[in-house]
Amino acid sequence: MTKRYTITAALPYTNGPIHIGHLAGVYIPADIYSRFLRIKGNDVLFICGSDEHGVPITLKAKKEGINPQDVVDKYHKIIKDSFAEFGISFDNYSRTSSKIHHKTASDFFTTLNNNNQFSEIESEQFYDESANQFLADRFIIGTCPKCHNTESYGDQCENCGTSHNALDLINPKSSITGLSPQLKKTKHWYLKLDSHQLFLENWILKDHKSDWKSNVYGQCKSWLDDGLRPRAVTRDLDWGVPVPLNNADGKVLYVWFDAPIGYISSTIEWAKKNNKNWESYWKDPATELVHFIGKDNIVFHCIIFPAMLKAEGSYILPKNVPANEFLNLEGDKISTSKNWAVWLPEYLIDFPNKQDILRYVLTSNAPETKDNDFTWKDFQAKNNNELVAIFGNFINRVVVLTNKYYNGDVPNKNKFLDVDTEVLNSIYESISKIEKSISKFRFREACNELINIARSGNKYLADQEPWKTIKVDENRVETVMYVSLQISAILSVISEPFLPKTSAKLQAILNSKAHSLHWTWGNLTEKNLIVNTGVRINKAELLFSKIEDREIDFQIEKLNHSKKSKAIPNKKTEINELDFSKLNFRIGNILEATKIEKSKKLLLLKIEIGNETRSIVSGIAKSYDPKKIIGTKVVVLTNLEPKIIAGVISQGMVLLTKDENNAEVFVSPVNINVESGLNIS
Ligand SMILES: [Zn+2]
Repeated sequence: MTKRYTITAALPYTNGPIHIGHLAGVYIPADIYSRFLRIKGNDVLFICGSDEHGVPITLKAKKEGINPQDVVDKYHKIIKDSFAEFGISFDNYSRTSSKIHHKTASDFFTTLNNNNQFSEIESEQFYDESANQFLADRFIIGTCPKCHNTESYGDQCENCGTSHNALDLINPKSSITGLSPQLKKTKHWYLKLDSHQLFLENWILKDHKSDWKSNVYGQCKSWLDDGLRPRAVTRDLDWGVPVPLNNADGKVLYVWFDAPIGYISSTIEWAKKNNKNWESYWKDPATELVHFIGKDNIVFHCIIFPAMLKAEGSYILPKNVPANEFLNLEGDKISTSKNWAVWLPEYLIDFPNKQDILRYVLTSNAPETKDNDFTWKDFQAKNNNELVAIFGNFINRVVVLTNKYYNGDVPNKNKFLDVDTEVLNSIYESISKIEKSISKFRFREACNELINIARSGNKYLADQEPWKTIKVDENRVETVMYVSLQISAILSVISEPFLPKTSAKLQAILNSKAHSLHWTWGNLTEKNLIVNTGVRINKAELLFSKIEDREIDFQIEKLNHSKKSKAIPNKKTEINELDFSKLNFRIGNILEATKIEKSKKLLLLKIEIGNETRSIVSGIAKSYDPKKIIGTKVVVLTNLEPKIIAGVISQGMVLLTKDENNAEVFVSPVNINVESGLNIS
């Protein structure tokens, strides 16, 4: 029986690209689940979008001297592209700065306000007189009352990890002007969460005791045991969805109020484009709503958002919220500020066309029940010992032998022996195990069972030894190859949710469209043989290739490099002459320019600086034809610490600016006759 599903994946925050931790924790499991339900024939809507409001984005914009919209435009594109590259099969990927979202969130607030769901509460908050604005917690810096770190934020000290109230900070300062802020009265709207305490207790602690993951259930229980309190849903800020009331100038919806509504506005956007009724995906009790998130989002998706949906009155509630734990990297916490991460855009440059490998490794080691560790050695081992040696090897032998013995035509079935029936039956059992595991959100278990199918195929072929039998019993070899081709076809169907690109490639090799039955999951659970005698398959192509030690050593070196080089402070603070004298700018002359493979943006430049030639990577490939810039004089910062960019060492930096079309261009000396190597001061 088919059903309707609305599946959401946490909206990524658009103040940076995404890394493997995000992929492992949220997007791959959500994608496997969505693809699985789709190939089973269900009506699936898989929704996501960029979360583009909130203080960190305004802070980043201030630091970089640009508008918040510029920040979110930049990262929205980067994030969306990464998802597409990794085959995350969203039906719609929207963004919360869109008109449709502003309207949806605004209307949602109005309905709750009309339903008397808010209290207006006045409190004192820090105000920066000279900047003329209230200060969000992240805009206040002061001394932590606990550990006396002088750089603590208003809401949390990053040194000792304590959360606190901005009013508790010793000697608070505005991070905008550096001045001491004043306390000033301000009014905010508070969602009456306490009035939903009883309902949430019944719904979570009773109704979902057995089907929600224990980490999720446990966190909800501790929130509920503490007792819920009213929670502010507005902020004094100029970036976000304006509060739709007359007496709320300068106030926006708190990002955590508007972000989950982003799922709804993304659905409405999709429905408009596809001429569908969005309400059946959010209001029909027959629809199953599932939220995929990381553990840091549990309270928002299990307590606050359901309370909002309930308070609105016409929405369904999530059936499950299978939150994951965190993924660590080489034994340490992934950290954006320390650059301790594997960023997806960099992975794509270093491992082109190996998206499925990362999907596989992150799934087979997913942090489902506890924090888990990603290591490059394990990545290599899983690729070489499982994907190459088991899955790839099996398929390759089957396809090569079929081409060799039968010119690519699927041979006759002939008479099955027990061993043939047994191997197929064991595989049908694996399929039903995979179904069970996926429906319980145990994706690593399912992924391991997928490899077991390939393992069974590999063992069957090794035991039957068609390459020996061919000399004595051609009939028997036909059956062995017929069975092996069935197993290969099964693998192509079952691997689709996990390894979509591999699945498509394998189906092309096996000429899936030429067989009489559709290669659907349903035909497998009915134990139908989906490969037909006489259909011609294509020539062998490698599905996976070995990853060498040097590739792994390079990744480890790159990580260690980022650990050593301290992050450069983002703040553009004033410097004195001494500071400036530390920078060595010189005139350079471009000798060679070549495109860096797999990168649309980067050129590798060989630059003559006096007697020396340097290799420098520069992000100007979109603006210049490499052939036409030979001999151009540019300005080079020569004493910048060498850095590995896209796999090459870059020894310095070429100064760039932007032209009227916003394209990167060189900063060049007006006098084109200046000599290379000259100092600039
Ligand atoms: Zn502290």
